[in-house]
Amino acid sequence: TPPSTPAVMPTIYERTTAAAIAHDAVNLGQGFPDTEGPDWLLQLAARAITEPETGPRNQYAPGMGLPTLREAISDAQARRQGVELDPATQVMVTTGATEGISATILAFARPGSEVLTFEPHYDSYGACAALAGARLVGVALRGPEFRPDLDAFEAAITERTSMILLNTPHNPTGTVFSTEELTRIVALAVKHDLRIMCDEVYEHLVLSDARLPHRSILTIPGAEEVAVAVGSAGKSFSVTGWKVGWVTGSAELVSQVRGVKQFLSFSSGPAFQWAVGHGLQDDQGFFAQNTAELEAGRDLLRAGLEELGLAPNRAEAGYFVLGNVSGITSLSAAQFCRVLAEEVGVAAIPVSALTIQHRANPSDELEHLVRFAFCKDHATIEEGLRRMREHL
Ligand code: PMP
Ligand code: GLN
Repeated sequence: TPPSTPAVMPTIYERTTAAAIAHDAVNLGQGFPDTEGPDWLLQLAARAITEPETGPRNQYAPGMGLPTLREAISDAQARRQGVELDPATQVMVTTGATEGISATILAFARPGSEVLTFEPHYDSYGACAALAGARLVGVALRGPEFRPDLDAFEAAITERTSMILLNTPHNPTGTVFSTEELTRIVALAVKHDLRIMCDEVYEHLVLSDARLPHRSILTIPGAEEVAVAVGSAGKSFSVTGWKVGWVTGSAELVSQVRGVKQFLSFSSGPAFQWAVGHGLQDDQGFFAQNTAELEAGRDLLRAGLEELGLAPNRAEAGYFVLGNVSGITSLSAAQFCRVLAEEVGVAAIPVSALTIQHRANPSDELEHLVRFAFCKDHATIEEGLRRMREHL
């Protein structure tokens, strides 16, 4: 089959936010917090722009990123994950995790090859695989636990497979991959000479009742040969508009990704990078406070969805909870979301928009799942639930 062409349509997130605005709906669709990020961090960025003694912060940053940020990322990974990274060669700053993902896929997915992932999956994976002339193949995560089926995953590897895309903690299921699961995937990559991109943008958003801690792919023996990890300051500090992300891994793999990245954006806003560097060296308690707030939002939304008969998942990390509509309607999740936006006044995302045509182990369940974002203030979540209770 020829690779699918990249979508020219606006992404599902943008369409959902536009529909929410058009219908005056409560936006539980696109995953962004409706707060502004910690004030001290915003002040640091403002200072970086206007106070020259912090260094030149309004001209091009170095292609690999500001040294202060690269050191901070390296220090944070050493502290949190016990991973040693040389800031000069093993850490590269990107324009959001989004660019880290695109550059990595363009660097490692061979034209005509297959790129293997779990589905549902983050939307840019399929588009970037197509831009690389490859095609994305998905292995379904199945509810209620949404754990990876590694036998199905192994069976989906063919002689055309060039790359594996992982996401832990996972959007939209909240699944945190275990050490054993990551170890088996790394062994498969080594055996079949595949590269791994592990999207870890929710690394700081693991909620307190999660049964597993986040383990970076880079902690797994053997990963150094095959894997890079991708992170996001936008997610970590609730400043999604800043678009500061990073790619980490061996000097060899990072330099290959850099070869692509330098022609995508070359570099991005040094003032934001400078502020994030300070934030990673001392988060001033933000990560703990943020996960506690997210957890309260998650609990509120989950309880409401439960009451509505939508059988929510545990949602142990990240921004999202999944509801299954098959118990209350014969509509597909995509149809249900249209009614929800237009008639009920709540915007949410059908998980089928985060799936692919090339399924190694089809799962009908994915047609019935709706993704609701809980990274919103309680009044917003309450209002969404009130509207649903009134209409459903
Ligand atoms: N990966 C996943 C799984 C995401 O949910 C998102 C969206 N936040 C991104 C990557 C993109 O991250 P960024 O905003 O840093 O580009
Ligand atoms: N990561 C966000 C989500 O999953 C959206 C990011 C975007 O709009 N590209 O909702």
